[in-house]
Amino acid sequence: MKESVLHLIDQLTPELNELSLQIYNNPELGYEEFLACKLHTDILRKYGFDVEENFSGVTTGFKATYKSKKEGITVAYMAEYDALPEIGHGCGHNLLGTVSTGAGIILKQIIEKLGGTVIVFGTPAEETSGAKITFVENHEFDDVDIALMAHPGSEYMKSGTSLALQPVQFEFYGKTAHAAASPEKGINALDAAILTFNNINALRQHILSDSRIHGVIIDGGKAANIVPDYSKVQFYVRSTSKTYNEELLEKVKNCARAAATATGCEIKITKFEFNYDNMITNETLSSLFNDIIYDVAKIKMNEPPKSNGSIDAGQVSQVCPTIHPYFDITNDTAIAGHTRELANATLTDYAKEQMKNTIAALVLTAAKVITDNDLYNKIKCEFDNTQK
Ligand SMILES: [Zn+2]
Ligand SMILES: [Zn+2]
Repeated sequence: MKESVLHLIDQLTPELNELSLQIYNNPELGYEEFLACKLHTDILRKYGFDVEENFSGVTTGFKATYKSKKEGITVAYMAEYDALPEIGHGCGHNLLGTVSTGAGIILKQIIEKLGGTVIVFGTPAEETSGAKITFVENHEFDDVDIALMAHPGSEYMKSGTSLALQPVQFEFYGKTAHAAASPEKGINALDAAILTFNNINALRQHILSDSRIHGVIIDGGKAANIVPDYSKVQFYVRSTSKTYNEELLEKVKNCARAAATATGCEIKITKFEFNYDNMITNETLSSLFNDIIYDVAKIKMNEPPKSNGSIDAGQVSQVCPTIHPYFDITNDTAIAGHTRELANATLTDYAKEQMKNTIAALVLTAAKVITDNDLYNKIKCEFDNTQK
């Protein structure tokens, strides 16, 4: 099996390199990835997938499906292809998406023997308000048994955790007045914004240490001689668990409510972006992937970082067993993410070689789970026991 998978990958490699290069040359921001979406769906169609475009209400999203004639589980690979402003593919999503689409095509070529269904989801806008969140809310992952992807970076790392994130916006409404001549007639919305920050700073001592609360004042008034009647602040609240993050968000809201009461302002509370759930790695699936990539290319996966940002694969991991490991494209040179250097690293021969190793491991991992019922049950059992 390993030899035939590696052979199929070799045959597909020129097309995959071209896909990654074209997306690199034409970086598109979240929800504007029209060309990237077309390039992915073109190649998936060519290899026999049924493609739904404009998927789940997301214009640049897609779902490509191939169902074999034999019963079996459903495997999903998640392809990202959005870029960053100014620096293009500084997160390497040109290569990330290519790895997922490549894995989907290779698994499809051997799936008649194995059984089951393979899906490639095109999931836009990971850098902003990730489409995986919409897909999960719309139950698009309900029939998926395992979900896999791998992110390029500067070292091979096991799938780990990410922080749950809640975006919250507070707007305060006060009353203008001459700030010197008749301040007693004014209600100061900027004070409410400042007090919100101070209240949150008092809260910090009493929260779980892995949590993060960070914010900015978007609007704090227009002129120093007018009492500001409007202010707007935005915060991200992050924690290692979704449940605790919801509790913490409520405390942050109370900080803002107290500031409104103290100043006499009206308050409006809204969510200004999608909330991200924390990533729960399925360890059974993850160790299988780690063993297989060692078997394929003698690659040893390093431990994941303790603290991390937030990823929309977190949402997926709450509804089906999921892994999100990292693969090295910089030959162990420390290049930071979200840089032009990392974007350029996606085009090197070294990166292309690691793309092949990663695709092989993603395909062989899925093939093993499809054909080993006990292993699948173990993955499912772990999933049922680790949620929340
Ligand atoms: Zn990124
Ligand atoms: Zn990324």
